[in-house]
Amino acid sequence: MRTSICTTPLPLKLFGSTSVASTVVPDAAAPHPTTGALIDRFGRVVRDLRLSITDRCNFRCTYCLTPDARFLATSDRLSTAELIRVGRVFARLGIERLRVTGGEPSVHPDLIEILSALSPLFHDVSMTTNGSLLDDDSARAWKAAGLRRVTISIDSLDPARFQAVTRSNVTSERVLAGLRAAINAGLGPVKVNSVLLAGVNDADAPALAALARELALEVRFIEFMPLDADGIWSHDTVVSSERTILGISKVFPLVLEGRDRPDRTAVRYRFVDGAEGSVSTIAPVSTPFCAECSRVRVTADGFIRPCLLTNAEWPLRELLRDGSSDDAIECAIRHAVWNKDAGGALRLSAARSGARGRTMSAIGG
Ligand code: SAM
Ligand code: SF4
Repeated sequence: MRTSICTTPLPLKLFGSTSVASTVVPDAAAPHPTTGALIDRFGRVVRDLRLSITDRCNFRCTYCLTPDARFLATSDRLSTAELIRVGRVFARLGIERLRVTGGEPSVHPDLIEILSALSPLFHDVSMTTNGSLLDDDSARAWKAAGLRRVTISIDSLDPARFQAVTRSNVTSERVLAGLRAAINAGLGPVKVNSVLLAGVNDADAPALAALARELALEVRFIEFMPLDADGIWSHDTVVSSERTILGISKVFPLVLEGRDRPDRTAVRYRFVDGAEGSVSTIAPVSTPFCAECSRVRVTADGFIRPCLLTNAEWPLRELLRDGSSDDAIECAIRHAVWNKDAGGALRLSAARSGARGRTMSAIGG
C-alpha cells in the first residue's frame, strides 16, 4: 500500500462570480484520504470520469456555443500523451466508467490512439458525440479501438430545426445514418441526447420518442442548463422534464420505470403499449440529483472539475508538465474530489443573478 503522498494543497481556480463562489468553496485544506476509493467529504464515491479530449467542435449549438466560438490554443489543451496519463491515474483510483467527451471528441485527430490506450483500463468506455463524423468506417474503427457504446446528440428530426439548433450544414439525415452505423457496428446500447428549448424544438419530443420506438433505443431529454456561451439561458427557456413527459404521453402513453442505478442521472419511462425503446429525463434544473452524484470531470485544458454546476476547478496541467509523479497527480485528484461541492443548486442561483462560469463545451458534457 502506498504511504501518504499528498503534501501540497492545490490552488483552486474559480470561474464566474467570486461572491457566489465564496459561498460554495469548501475548505481547501481539509484532509482527504490518501488510499482507498476516490471519495468526497460527503461520502460519495466517485466512479465515473468524463474526460474532455478537446474543446473544439464543428457545431455551434445555440444552447452551447456562440456562432463565433473561440477555442483553446493547442499548447493550452492537454496533449494526447497527457490525456492518456490522466486516464491511467484515474483508472488506478478505481474509476470504473470512462466517458470521452468534448467539445466534439470525434474531431480529435488522435481519437483512436486515446481510445486504444484507455479502453482496456475501464469497465465501460462510452463517448458522447454529435454524430456528424459517424459512418460505417468510423463506427467500426471506434469499436475496434475499444469504445463500447456511443450517445449521439439529436435535438430535432426536422431538417430545418436541426440545422437551426446546431448552426451547422450537417443534416439530421446524416446524423441518423451515423446512428444506424453505430448500431450496426455494435456500439450499443446506443442512446440519444436531446436538449429542448422552449418555443424552439419542444414540439419535437414526440417525434424523438417515435425514433426511440422505431430503433429500440433510449432517448434522453436533458433540461437546458445555464452553461451556454450565448447567455440565452433563463428559466423561461427551460423545458422541464415534467412538461416533456406530458407532451410525449399525449402521443405515446408512458409509464415510469425509474433509475437503472441510484447514481444514474436519467429517469426512465417505458411505453405503455409495450413498444421497445424508452425515453428518459435528466432534470438537473427542476430536480437536482447531487446527493447521488458519482462523477468527476477533467476539462480539455487540464482542470479537475468535480461538479458540473459549481465553478470550482483544480489545475492538473502544470503537474503534468513539471515532472511531477503519478503519485502527485493522484494526490491532486483526491484533493479535488474530496472538496467536491455538495451540489449545483448554487450555480443555478448564480445563473439567475447573472454570474456565469465556464460553458458546457469548455467543461466537457
Ligand atoms: N459534442 C458532443 C455532443 O454534442 O454530443 C459532446 C459534448 S456536448 C457538450 C455533451 C452533451 O451536453 C450533449 O448531449 C449536449 O446536448 C449537452 N449540452 C450542451 N450544452 C448544454 C446545456 N447548456 N444544457 C444541457 N445540456 C447541454
Ligand atoms: Fe458542439 Fe456538442 Fe456543444 Fe453542440 S453540444 S456545440 S455538438 S460541443
